Amino acid sequence: MYQIPTFECDNKPEAIAILTSGGDSPGMNPAIRGVVRAALHHGIKVYGVHKGYSGLIIGDLQEMNSASVTNIVQRGGTILKSDRCLAFKDPEVRYQAAEILKEKGIDSLVVIGGDGSLTGAHLLAAENDIRVIGLPGTIDNDIYGTDDTIGFDTAVNTALDAIDKIRDTALSHESLFLVEVMGRNSGFIATHVGIACGAEMIVVPEYEVQIESICFQLASNREQGKGSSGIIVVAEGQTPGLTYSLATQLKQHNQSAKVCILGHIQRGGSPTGHDRVLASCLGASAVDYLCAGYNDVMIGVKNGQIVDTPLKQVIEKGKQLDEALFERALLLHK
Ligand code: ADP
Repeated sequence: MYQIPTFECDNKPEAIAILTSGGDSPGMNPAIRGVVRAALHHGIKVYGVHKGYSGLIIGDLQEMNSASVTNIVQRGGTILKSDRCLAFKDPEVRYQAAEILKEKGIDSLVVIGGDGSLTGAHLLAAENDIRVIGLPGTIDNDIYGTDDTIGFDTAVNTALDAIDKIRDTALSHESLFLVEVMGRNSGFIATHVGIACGAEMIVVPEYEVQIESICFQLASNREQGKGSSGIIVVAEGQTPGLTYSLATQLKQHNQSAKVCILGHIQRGGSPTGHDRVLASCLGASAVDYLCAGYNDVMIGVKNGQIVDTPLKQVIEKGKQLDEALFERALLLHK
């Protein structure tokens, strides 16, 4: 469970807007609910912005009440919708967005999204007279300042569910599967999924792996009587097609492998209990931090404690995959 800091509410916002931006992640809805219910508890007006920064720059927002967030805690995606808005990279457009908020009497904004969205959040706060709190909403878990992001646990469990099924086919046909999971240039999902599904190998962008060492591992498995079926979990990486290229390279080493790309199923679905609690606590805490006068920070969780980190630091420092965890995963293959 989380240790939640308590603050004096001596900087109560006039009104709070909330938006979800970038890639959606399961748990954004409970986070929205957390913000709305906590704001109403403090007697603060709260507005939902439709379609992320695209909606913000045209003033597409609506006041929310307690009923607006009823029956959403279990739903994947985001009721506010999400978008990618290139125009928000322009400081003039951000200034206009801040003016729109001020015209409506809104002085605070909560942004739920990944590193791109949090970059936009920091710039908006740094350049304008709007107080901004970011929440880490991404399945990738690649955000500095938090051990965990909203949606990561659900994505890992969704991938596991699929891989357990693929394993049945792999065993029945004594075949090898390369299963590609999401994570762009970070191997958090792949490492966690790989450990939890008992993968024969994990391939992540952070650590180079030679095709020869994969073949050696597979041969060693056969010699140990583990059979020739198996699952290799591959992080998608920045360049599409990596997993197909691995399959081709394996074929050149007389090792056939089937490719299965899990893709967007990892983004959707009902959030796990873990993500619902994380998102709800972070959402409600965002309002506490605003009431205490905080600005330009992200609220995350470290060692079980709700903590804040300046958004500037969040976007400047990337979160690295824990080497010890990856080493542990390698040990478990053998
Ligand atoms: P995510 O938040 O999931 O990482 P993106 O990287 O696509 O997703 O970013 C989502 C949105 O955040 C972008 O479409 C844009 O509106 C905003 N954003 C991203 N980078 C910047 C930036 N450098 N300056 C201002 N806004 C940005």
